[in-house]
Amino acid sequence: MPRPLSRRSVPRTALARVPRRPRRRFGAAECSEQLVKRSLKAAALRDCGRRCVYCATPLERETATLDHVYPRAHGGGNVPGNLVASCVRCNRLKGDLLPQEFFLRHPWAGLNFMRYARAVHRALKRNARRAVSLACAA
Ligand SMILES: [Zn+2]
Repeated sequence: MPRPLSRRSVPRTALARVPRRPRRRFGAAECSEQLVKRSLKAAALRDCGRRCVYCATPLERETATLDHVYPRAHGGGNVPGNLVASCVRCNRLKGDLLPQEFFLRHPWAGLNFMRYARAVHRALKRNARRAVSLACAA
């Protein structure tokens, strides 16, 4: 009678794949959306040096908000290159203003933005620099 194959003698690639994480049973869509949001926020916080990119106040995860540099109301995406960490005050101050309008009105915010928003899209930074120099020239 042949000996049963031990697991060791089977090449690794022949073994059935086991999913790494069990499937979530409840509210999967909602849950994963929250997870995405949380990880986007964590990434934004890290990329912005755990500070508000507009006023440079140190932030914690609870006090930070995600700000869309190019507002969603104007078609800005929910993507990492458009997301920064900001405090509630600055987020409210900025509202639905386009970044160039906001920086023209508040050049200090633009200066901090250029310094701390490291992971945003290049074009956004370029616009910020332009707006700040316009504001300073005026
Ligand atoms: Zn702020």
